[in-house]
Amino acid sequence: MSISTAPSPDCDLCPRLKEFRHDNRATEPGWFNAPVPGFGDPEARLIIVGLAPGLKGANRTGRPFTGDYAGDLLYATLFKFGLTSGKYAACADDGMTLNDTFITNAVKCVPPQNKPVGAEIKACRRFLAADLAALPRWRVLLALGRIAHNSLVATLGERQKDFAFGHGAMHRLDGGRWLVDSYHCSRYNTNTNRLTEAMFEGVFEAILQRLD
Ligand code: SF4
Repeated sequence: MSISTAPSPDCDLCPRLKEFRHDNRATEPGWFNAPVPGFGDPEARLIIVGLAPGLKGANRTGRPFTGDYAGDLLYATLFKFGLTSGKYAACADDGMTLNDTFITNAVKCVPPQNKPVGAEIKACRRFLAADLAALPRWRVLLALGRIAHNSLVATLGERQKDFAFGHGAMHRLDGGRWLVDSYHCSRYNTNTNRLTEAMFEGVFEAILQRLD
């Protein structure tokens, strides 16, 4: 399920992304084509934060990481660790639910070439902050990629120089909480072996130890 922190479907804080949304609505009227809200367990202790919806993934289906390669790897990995119930079928109405886990993005609208600019990341941080505030039980934040990491550090009010991004890095936060980093589970990163399935699973093994 989603929580009530989602931006308006017509959010206009980022003019470039609003224009791209309108273009996509014209060319693909059957797609979701709106800011994609977070999804998962409202009691989640693990929050996973990606970069932004993929054009033909979440922007098409309306659920984070659903319908493209990154989602295939992410949801298969979550299944292996018991963090999903039901079968992932790459569409928002597949009935799959997340256990103790919530998934969102640093930027809620699909950006051209999958590259948000700094002003867009900053503008959307209010919605990332709202996600965190609406999930008070969280213990671990998993940042998928450097942009998600940096936006989470800013959201937490911490200094970037104290929290260097690195795959597998575990950053201790106040109150026994953690910020954990992973390379993004994109097709590019797996095709180039920057991220292997074993590396990705290693991150989740470490996270689950911290949630015990
Ligand atoms: S990226 Fe975020 S802030 Fe920008 S238009 Fe979309 S929902 Fe609004």
